[in-house]
Amino acid sequence: MDLNIRGRTALVTGASSGIGFETARVLLNEGATVVMTGPDPDELKDAVDRLSAFKDSLFAYDADVTVASAVDRLAADVAAEVGDLDILVNNAGIHGAGGLFHEISQEGWDRTIDVDLMGPVRVTRAFLPGLRRGGWGRIVFVSSEDAVQPYEDELPYCAAKAGLLSLARGLSRTYASEGVLVNTVSPAFIATPMTDEMMSARAKEQNSTFDEAIASFLREERPFMELGRRGRPEEVAHVIAFLCSDAASFVNGSNYRVDSGSVATI
Ligand code: NAD
Repeated sequence: MDLNIRGRTALVTGASSGIGFETARVLLNEGATVVMTGPDPDELKDAVDRLSAFKDSLFAYDADVTVASAVDRLAADVAAEVGDLDILVNNAGIHGAGGLFHEISQEGWDRTIDVDLMGPVRVTRAFLPGLRRGGWGRIVFVSSEDAVQPYEDELPYCAAKAGLLSLARGLSRTYASEGVLVNTVSPAFIATPMTDEMMSARAKEQNSTFDEAIASFLREERPFMELGRRGRPEEVAHVIAFLCSDAASFVNGSNYRVDSGSVATI
């Protein structure tokens, strides 16, 4: 299938690792120009080096999505040096504050909501004018299975990701008539630095190996992940790339689960 996104310009937040990095790689492979962003200049440089085969169509700017002035500067730099976007992938996120509700501090809540919900709001506000100008656009938000299947020990993350579903659905109603389609992707348990960190902590807690921690997590916490393994970042990136493409021209306001069945409801 030809995604027909050659020549389109995409920005991916949180692109220096995991799902964001693979999304950048897939979009570059499909012939798009890609702007990678992330909060850490060294990690970003390393990611750019790993994609050196695409250096003529790759741009990178560091920006923390919680800092409004950094997002504004990012938008100004991209406008001046790259031009208007056709595609925006709001991928940056953190697992955030964990523990039961009564164990989580106000700071934990504020930080998680600030990165995972307000970050995408800031970035979308900054780039929407250019997306609308083009008359053809795609916005993808990376939510999570947690949005519709909340886990009691990660409620700030669940609430932020549920907020993204509502945000995306609302945006999809406002801008579709202008050609800007908005969708979400909701992964579960993908092998990235985010779940590496979770599994390392679990292994330490249980005095087990990393692989045993994954196996017990799947068995005890994710019983409906029928494939019985972590997903690979590219397995999410391919779905994101589809939603960013011409091939998804009638897909709007949807939430694509990429979770091997983790969400138990139909
Ligand atoms: P990751 O840790 O590899 O990627 C997260 C990226 O977000 C990193 O590049 C990081 O630098 C960036 N980031 C974090 N805070 C930021 C900030 N303040 N400003 C800008 N960038 C920031 O993990 P990942 O699993 O690839 O996560 C990507 C997205 O997928 C996240 O939104 C995450 O919530 C979502 N997700 C992941 C899983 C999973 O199992 N890995 C499951 C569901 C949803």
